[in-house]
Amino acid sequence: MDLLRQIVSGKKKRYLEDGYNLDLTYITPRIIAMSLPGEGVHKMYRNSIDSVAKFLAEKHRRKYKILNLSGLKYNYRKFDNNVNEYYWEDHYPPTIELLFTACKDIHEWLIQDPENIIAVNCKAGKGRTGTLICCYLLYCGKLIDPNQAMKYYKSKRFSRGGGVTQPSQIRYILYFSDILTGKIRLPLIVSLNRVQLFTAPHVSGNSSKLIFEIKANDRIIYSNKALCRDKQQSFTDIWEETSTHELALIESELFLQGDITCLIAHWGLIRLKKICRFSFNTAFIPNSEVLRFEKCELDPDNFKNSRIVSDNFYVYLDFQKKCNCNASMEISERCEFCIESLLKSEIDKWQMIRNIIIRKIDINPSVCLFGNPELDDVYEILTRVVDDSEFSSDGSAD
Ligand SMILES: [Zn+2]
Repeated sequence: MDLLRQIVSGKKKRYLEDGYNLDLTYITPRIIAMSLPGEGVHKMYRNSIDSVAKFLAEKHRRKYKILNLSGLKYNYRKFDNNVNEYYWEDHYPPTIELLFTACKDIHEWLIQDPENIIAVNCKAGKGRTGTLICCYLLYCGKLIDPNQAMKYYKSKRFSRGGGVTQPSQIRYILYFSDILTGKIRLPLIVSLNRVQLFTAPHVSGNSSKLIFEIKANDRIIYSNKALCRDKQQSFTDIWEETSTHELALIESELFLQGDITCLIAHWGLIRLKKICRFSFNTAFIPNSEVLRFEKCELDPDNFKNSRIVSDNFYVYLDFQKKCNCNASMEISERCEFCIESLLKSEIDKWQMIRNIIIRKIDINPSVCLFGNPELDDVYEILTRVVDDSEFSSDGSAD
């Protein structure tokens, strides 16, 4: 069974001391990343819940807290119910408020008692777990550069490759950093005018019948799927022509605010075939009013190797701002249009994030992460690790 676990765990560093063999890594002495404590079939290839419970009880008595990001329940009683849930979908970015609420939770637990530790799990303990831990490295004040946070996490959790690899998860770690420094305080309201593709995906021969969908707050707010398959527009080219295609021209005004996820799929003979997707937040639309997602910036992470699109493939979104406000302005500084059009839930959410940032108690980040500041290896690791830029992925669970 150990061999089976080893294969699924891949390049992650395992805990192999004192008779344990766990898919569990101390990112720092006070922050653990681990895969799902599994029961039944899950324990075959993830961690066995009993071994994890024994490990935490033995090493950290009652001074641990687990953050379960997987959306899967396990027997929390085995951990004295010391488990908090923060679910978001595998391979997707979290919402911004989830990142801040979870970081606040971690921080408050760690400053309460110097012996307290945090264990974070998703399914495989890679992407979602890494996204949150990277954000915490920024939140506690240890690092200010989100790329360094990702580099540190990657080198502590993995012996090679790995790290946070989903492009939108990486994007949200960068967002988190800008919000934390106060650069971004509230999303903009924009209207989306057009979506273009540079070169057509070749799903059926040299062409594809494409569907474009936009989701906000888990609801589809735009879709051209309503057309039957035969009426769906066909996109054809040879990649050498390097032509631009109009994927969607949005005729009636489509306002967007906050977290947005877009999907591009091909209408196959029998069913839809997903091509790629991407997530962004309208707080981060630049003054150019344009967002451009290169092939390597589209989800899932292994899409960058996809043979159905050209290497020069990109998605281009053309927005229009509806006022002169910018995302660093709070609601009290915004124009009448913003005040009227921003959803109350959006305003409340960002007010909550603001409060978390303002009320954060700052303590020595080396103590927060390492207990003993002499154990702090962050700068040592960052200067030692040469980025191997090997963002290989097998497309498995995060
Ligand atoms: Zn405005």
